[in-house]
Amino acid sequence: MYDRVLIANRGEIAVRVARTCERLGIETVAVYSDADEGAPHTKVADEAYRIGPAPVVESYLDIPSILDVAEEADVQAIHPGYGLLSENAEFVDEVEQAGFDFVGPRPEVMTLMSDKSDARAFARDAGVPVVPGTDGPVEDIEAAIEFAEEVEYPVLVKAAAGGGGIGMRKATDEESLRKAYKACRRRGESAFGDSTVYMEKYIESPRHIEVQILADHHGSVLHIFERECSVQRRHQKVIEETPSPMMQQIGGLRNEMTDAAVALAEAANYSNAGTVEFVVDEEGNFYFIEMNTRLQVEHTVTEMITGLDIVEQQLRVAHGEPFDFRQEDIKMRGHSIQCRVYAENPQKRFMPAPGNIEGYEEPTGEGIRVDSGAEAGYEVTRYYDPLVAKVISHADHRPEAIDRMVDALENYTIEGLTTNIDMHLEVLASDAFQSGAVHTSWLEEQY
Ligand code: ADP
Repeated sequence: MYDRVLIANRGEIAVRVARTCERLGIETVAVYSDADEGAPHTKVADEAYRIGPAPVVESYLDIPSILDVAEEADVQAIHPGYGLLSENAEFVDEVEQAGFDFVGPRPEVMTLMSDKSDARAFARDAGVPVVPGTDGPVEDIEAAIEFAEEVEYPVLVKAAAGGGGIGMRKATDEESLRKAYKACRRRGESAFGDSTVYMEKYIESPRHIEVQILADHHGSVLHIFERECSVQRRHQKVIEETPSPMMQQIGGLRNEMTDAAVALAEAANYSNAGTVEFVVDEEGNFYFIEMNTRLQVEHTVTEMITGLDIVEQQLRVAHGEPFDFRQEDIKMRGHSIQCRVYAENPQKRFMPAPGNIEGYEEPTGEGIRVDSGAEAGYEVTRYYDPLVAKVISHADHRPEAIDRMVDALENYTIEGLTTNIDMHLEVLASDAFQSGAVHTSWLEEQY
C-alpha cells in the first residue's frame, strides 16, 4: 500500500479520506487556500500546504500548485475527493505525467462520461435504457422544437457539460422551450465553458436511484447495491438512503438496475469507484441519466449497510490490488439514511447562508456517523459549497433509521449559522417520506 497520499480537496471529504488513510497507516498531505487556513481538514492530515488564495481557480483548481506540493511533500498518489478536480481528465493526465498515481478511473472513461450527451449514446449502445432524447447535441432552436413535438412536452434541455443540477431547464410548451434553450446554452457556457446542449423527454415525478460500482484492474466489476436520492432541491440531493424503498415495491427491479449498471461499467472498461445514475418512473421503468466517475457525497450510506470502506477500496484499486471479495460476498445489512446539513435557508429558495459557527457539538449514538469538516470558530465562506456536515444513520429497519436520524439532528448543536436541519426534521416527519413515496420534485413542491 502507499506510504503517503495527497488529498486534493477540502472540507468534510478531505477529513473523511484522511481518516481511512490513517487507519491504513498511510501518511496524508493536505492542501488549503487562505480561506481554509487552520481548517479541520488541515489538522487531521500529517502535513498541510498552502496552495493559494480563496477563489477555487487560484487554489483547489490550480493544477500546477497542487503538483508542486505533491513533489515537495514526496507523495505517491493523489486522491481528488469529489467535485473540484475529481472528474477532470486533464488533471489525471498531468498527475500521471508527473509520476503520481491518481486515485480514480482512467482519464479516457472520464472524458467519455463528462459529456452527458456522449455518455447517453454510449449507454444506449451498451444496451442500457436511456430517457427518450436527442442523439447528440441540439444545434438550433428549430431542432429543439422538432424534438419536443416528436416526444411531446414536457421536455428537459440539458447542458452537455452540466453537473450539480446546473444547466438544466424544463419546458412545457414552445414559448418556454425557446427560453430554456437560450438559458441552458448561456449557463453551459458560463459555468462549464461549453454551450453544447441536448434534450430529453421530461419524466414526470421520477425517483432518482443510482448504483454504486467498484471495479479493479483485474477484470472484476462489482456493484454495491443502489441508493435512492429523490429528496432534491434544484436537482441537487439533500437526503439519500439505501436500500431504495422502491425495491420492496417492485420485485426484480434491483437485479435489473444493478445488471444494467455493471454492463455499462464493463462496456466502458471502468476502474475504481463510480456511480451509474437513473431516473425511475412509477411503474419501475428506469432510464440512465449519467455516470459519475468519482466518489459520491452519499457513498457513506452504502458503507453503512455493507461494512465496506469505499475510500479504502479506491486506494487499493489505484495501487493495483485485485479485490479480495466477490459479488456474492457483498451483503446488505439494515437501512441507512444520510441528511446533508447545509448552511442555507430553505425559506429563501434554499439560498446559501454563509457565516461563522459560534457553538458546535456533533451528535453521537448507536448507528450514528457524522462526516464533517467543521468545528466551533469555523467559517462557512461564500467561496465554497455550503455543506457543513453529513449525518448518517443506520439501523436494522427503515423506521428505526429514521428515528435515529431525528434524534441525532435534534441533538446537533450548530450556533450562529442558518442551516437546513429543521427542514430535514419536517421531511423525516412527513407521511410522504415515511411511506417511501417521495419523488424528485416533492421537496420543492413543499417549499
Ligand atoms: P447533474 O449532472 O447536473 O447532476 P443529472 O442529469 O444527473 O444532472 O440530473 C439531476 C436530476 O435532475 C435527477 O436526479 C432528476 O431529479 C432530474 N432529471 C434529470 N433528467 C431528468 C429527466 N429526463 N426527467 C425528469 N427529471 C430528470
